[in-house]
Amino acid sequence: MRMFEKSSKLDNVCYDIRGPVMDEANRMIAAGEKIVKLNIGNPAPFGFRAPDAVIKSMSENLTNTEGYSDSKGLISARKAIVEYCRSKNMPDVSVDDVYTGNGVSELITLCMQGLLNSGDEVLVPSPDYPLWTASITLAGGVAVHYICDEQNEWYPDIEDMKSKITEKTKAIVVINPNNPTGALYPKEILLQIVEMARQHGLILFADEIYDRLVMDGLEHIALASLAPDLLTVSFNGLSKSHLLAGYRCGWMCLCGDKSKAKGYIEGINLLSSMRLCSNVPAQSLIPTALENLEDAKNMLLPGGRIYEQREYIYNAIADIPGLSVVKPKAAFYMFPYMDIEKFHIVDDERFVLDFLKEKKILFTHGGGFHWAKPDHFRIVYLPCVDDLSIAAESLKDFLHDYKQS
Ligand code: PLP
Repeated sequence: MRMFEKSSKLDNVCYDIRGPVMDEANRMIAAGEKIVKLNIGNPAPFGFRAPDAVIKSMSENLTNTEGYSDSKGLISARKAIVEYCRSKNMPDVSVDDVYTGNGVSELITLCMQGLLNSGDEVLVPSPDYPLWTASITLAGGVAVHYICDEQNEWYPDIEDMKSKITEKTKAIVVINPNNPTGALYPKEILLQIVEMARQHGLILFADEIYDRLVMDGLEHIALASLAPDLLTVSFNGLSKSHLLAGYRCGWMCLCGDKSKAKGYIEGINLLSSMRLCSNVPAQSLIPTALENLEDAKNMLLPGGRIYEQREYIYNAIADIPGLSVVKPKAAFYMFPYMDIEKFHIVDDERFVLDFLKEKKILFTHGGGFHWAKPDHFRIVYLPCVDDLSIAAESLKDFLHDYKQS
């Protein structure tokens, strides 16, 4: 009998955030168990609601968004995105340089497919948001991971980045603010990355989907704003800042100097037209969403949900013997360190699975973010403080006598 196997293109492609541990959690849920989920950055199930004005705008547009749009997206949406880019000093972005997508996810895959030939290398952070590594691998490229340094606020280790550039390197991916660490990079670090790209003739891919989720009075600096003489492809969207991940609403902008990228842009245009266009009702709410940035800010201020949940979980985790964590400055993730000697941990996925089975709480193991040692895991702190406190208490109790052997 003829068997159908998955394509060999997928051999080394993995996306563990929705991998085997989540499958086990889904089995437990199907069997009637209640699981506290701290594993996915999806705000809506935790009671976060998209701003009313945004929902209203989409519902008002439903009857005139029944058809396909231009492959790059509605002009009204792209004009609003251009304005947003201007407000962040991102250079040389016109409506022609903006592409809407079914989430940033679709555009990340598209950009890698359009750029990479077999064996081409792209520098990607470790830990990373794993879609980057998966998309590079699927496109036939090689993701070369540069270290982000936990001892230095999880900022990229510039020396490590430099040491990993080869003749095959085509681009650098910068995820700022970062998932999974919650780090926000300062100008000095960004300038050094730009200089490296300049010296080696590299494209910059700036994943800035969390740029509006910054706390403690800090400001996000768009990478493109520091690199007018380079090509920066900047990614953003409304899944997180406007709490509507299910609408699949993202975009990317080609910023700065495009003169050396005519061929690549042709490739992007071709791939963009092959998927016809992104969800048009979701595109139609972009102008309203980008005029309503204040709503999102409240949850990041003292007294706001995300801020208070961060304060709670940061203190609770820092209090557990054998764990430590860098306080996140942005987004809604943290990436705690665990003392693997103390707990005899050799397999972080097993740790997360053991914890899930015993305490019915779901984290993601550090390996899922291409972190090499089994000594980290990611917490999504979107659940309310009551659920976070159940998670923290359970973790403390679980680790009290946990040993892997
Ligand atoms: N980039 C980062 C860093 C993310 O964390 C995510 C989602 O978690 C995405 C991109 C994809 O977002 P979306 O496809 O919903 O726009």
